[in-house]
Amino acid sequence: MQTAFASQYTDTAEADDTGNSAGLSPGDIAALNAAYEPLEFGDRIRKVYEDFAPDKVLVTSSFAATSAYFLHIISSIRPEQEIAFIDTGYHFQETISYRDFLSGEYGLKVRALRAEDWKHDFTRKDKTWSHDPDFCCSINKVEPLENVKPNYHLWISSLMRWQTDHRSDMQIFEERRGIIKFNPMIDVTKEQRDAYIKEHDLPFHPLVEQGFDSIGCSHCTFKGEGREGRWKGNKKTECGIHM
Ligand code: SF4
Repeated sequence: MQTAFASQYTDTAEADDTGNSAGLSPGDIAALNAAYEPLEFGDRIRKVYEDFAPDKVLVTSSFAATSAYFLHIISSIRPEQEIAFIDTGYHFQETISYRDFLSGEYGLKVRALRAEDWKHDFTRKDKTWSHDPDFCCSINKVEPLENVKPNYHLWISSLMRWQTDHRSDMQIFEERRGIIKFNPMIDVTKEQRDAYIKEHDLPFHPLVEQGFDSIGCSHCTFKGEGREGRWKGNKKTECGIHM
């Protein structure tokens, strides 16, 4: 089924006018939010694959603490969905193992997004994470993702409002830097997420049992509750891809 929204996606002129690759106006985005707000997250995801061309949908995963939650849902609704993994080159070995384990469990097709070699090598020799983490994230996370975003009309995230202040006022649909972000789980509470994980007996990242609640690159991740272990000692709370 293709809706009025989907019919706009190939209109390049309109996309140019709106500033996002899907060619959606602020009114279209408001209408999408109104239509999806009453639905629970599973129905939102099922509906989005009807309203948007499935091959124009981008899904990313960091294979972090509770990524099994999001990936279990996505893979059960659209098993052929490609999962983009931003491979910074600085992940814990446990993250790579968890990625491979979940890929086998759910039959995921994972595609790695990486910085150009010379840029990544610069950050490695410079230890950029130690004195300018924003720049390091920009090279190793933000830019590899920005490079592929023009190929898609919609980016599905697993963000939830309770995770950070920055995420607390996000909407189900919103435009961010030229792409429509779709946050189907934005209003899921921590308790609801944990109940789903328990009900489906989902596996956590192996570092969770060692006290890591949120897991990113090894240089910038420490034990702690919530996201307090990320960029510890630095006011930075987001890598930048969701800004
Ligand atoms: S999280 Fe740390 S190591 Fe990873 S890209 Fe950002 S600054 Fe660099």
